[in-house]
Amino acid sequence: MARTALVTGGTRGIGAAISVALREAGYSVAANYCGNDEAASRFEAETGIPVFKWSVASYEACVAGLAKVEAQLGPVEILVNNAGITRDGMFHRITPEQWREVIDTNLSGVFNMTHPVWPGMRERGFGRVIIISSINGQKGQMGQVNYAAAKAGDLGFTRALSLEGARAGITVNAITPGYIATDMVMAVPEKVREGIIAQIPVGRLGEASEIARCVLFLASDDAGFITGATLAANGGQYMS
Ligand code: NDP
Repeated sequence: MARTALVTGGTRGIGAAISVALREAGYSVAANYCGNDEAASRFEAETGIPVFKWSVASYEACVAGLAKVEAQLGPVEILVNNAGITRDGMFHRITPEQWREVIDTNLSGVFNMTHPVWPGMRERGFGRVIIISSINGQKGQMGQVNYAAAKAGDLGFTRALSLEGARAGITVNAITPGYIATDMVMAVPEKVREGIIAQIPVGRLGEASEIARCVLFLASDDAGFITGATLAANGGQYMS
């Protein structure tokens, strides 16, 4: 029987590419989203992948959302924590609200979603938790103290939790994409984007499908010996 995968923020950008790739590889897929109903409805109509609306920033909403997904598709065996936001600003200008929003979604959101999924994975003796962190959580980035802190936190989360899942058949891994051509990056002014591309050794932005293929590998049985790892997909921009 097909394994069930839940992709947070799975209706747009990198998440949409991940949802589609998992579906094409034979998984039964649920795509979560938060606010953009129009994009989610379009995605559902085009792909046939069911969409589920809740905010990963709320623990209670994640518990309720997971229950709905599992009632429709069965136990979630692959969890892709992809949902993420930016609220950029130089540190001396960012507000506590900008700090909290990014931490709540990009770091606490990973806890909120993984925690309710975890007991079932332990009971069944199988699970794949994949976290989409960021190159900027590794190297830092001006104007992104909140985002870099959250994404670096995701890497600590990945390493610590991987130890707890290891004997239970659950792998926990992170992917750190470099700059990928999605709404998040295309929203940056063109001049800034040109500057970004100039810093990427391969000379181009990444494609969402390239991150999706990393997820497919980490979700597969072939990746059973890989846990606690950080898979960098950044065109050579940062090597740790
Ligand atoms: P997009 O802005 O294109 O899409 C973000 C997705 O996350 C949307 O589906 C959005 O839902 C969803 N989302 C946002 N907040 C929440 C929330 N609170 N609860 C549930 N879903 C939410 O982002 P990208 O595809 O560019 O980024 C995806 C991930 O990859 C993020 O974690 C990002 O930090 C990371 N990343 C991106 C890079 C890039 O270059 N693009 C580089 C490195 C990392 P809705 O449609 O309803 O708004």
